[in-house]
Amino acid sequence: MRILVADDSIVSRHVLDATLRKWGYDVVMASDGEEAWQILQRDDAPRLVILDWMMPGMTGLEICRLVRARAPEPYIYILLLTSKSHREDLIEGMEAGADDYITKPFDQHELKVRLRAGTRLVELQAELFAAREALREQATKDWLTKLWNRSSILDILMRELARSERDVSPVSVALLDLDHFKSVNDTLGHYAGDIVLRETAVRMNDSVRQYDSIGRYGGEEFLIVLPGCDLSGAISQAERLCGRISGTPVTIGPTETNFTASIGVTTSLPGQSATADALIGRADEALYQAKRKGRNRVESLAFEPETASAPQHEALTVKV
Ligand code: GH3
Ligand code: MG
Ligand code: MG
Repeated sequence: MRILVADDSIVSRHVLDATLRKWGYDVVMASDGEEAWQILQRDDAPRLVILDWMMPGMTGLEICRLVRARAPEPYIYILLLTSKSHREDLIEGMEAGADDYITKPFDQHELKVRLRAGTRLVELQAELFAAREALREQATKDWLTKLWNRSSILDILMRELARSERDVSPVSVALLDLDHFKSVNDTLGHYAGDIVLRETAVRMNDSVRQYDSIGRYGGEEFLIVLPGCDLSGAISQAERLCGRISGTPVTIGPTETNFTASIGVTTSLPGQSATADALIGRADEALYQAKRKGRNRVESLAFEPETASAPQHEALTVKV
């Protein structure tokens, strides 16, 4: 367990350093409040902290307030160490966000058991945090490919469409479908099919820009959202992707299998107020053309809001 000790007294630091190391802690030292605050803002900040109250620059109390205002996750457990020993001081320290409080000169046994309580809490919180992250992952990611699942990629697309209206920028989508994928399953087995799906995900991840998002839209169908990308940009991206997928075979046991994909691309321009459904519908039409024209290729269609919105109105009328 890593622990941050912030104290302006060199003697205190020495004593704490030696004591904590003896107890097996991995100690990070700060000689004033500013330095401690710098360390605490890092992603890899220690989760257990001993803060001296009185320090030049920034006091331990101020750091407590800043840490709680920032509310980092996982939680940071703070133990205030100070020569102040009045009841009001204790209340003020805890009000500022300290979890515990120990007065100087400290009793070694007392410090040891209080730190043990802090460690327990930090460990429990880290377990909770990991469990929550795992649940989030399960709810938003596709288990096989680790890409966004269908509902997440649709959320992303809707968010990007709303943003593109505000920023007056285009959003492109590419719908990618593996060619004759059923025959991979039929000839090599379902497990081999899964390998191909995972490999497709890796190749797609390698090919797109950092701010593009990829989701598994259906069995062997993937949706790529390309924010800020116009139609010609999206076509070149899709062509690169197509080449990357067909470029090298995938090794499945003793065999090497080639596989290809067809991609349909379309773009929503600012002012078109495209819905996610309509945009995907258009990309699907383009994908259908790519399949019809021989597969392993990219086809694109300009998005046409009038034609896309017509069936939706009809559907609405029928519902009403
Ligand atoms: P096309 O070129 O026209 O797209 O032909 P296709 O064979 O790829 O299309 P089809 O829709 O006929 O077949 C898709 C196959 O994808 C059928 C289904 O068994 C397979 N599939 C869907 N999800 C998975 C999966 O998670 N793992 C595996 N191994 N196969 C899957
Ligand atoms: Mg297919
Ligand atoms: Mg399909």
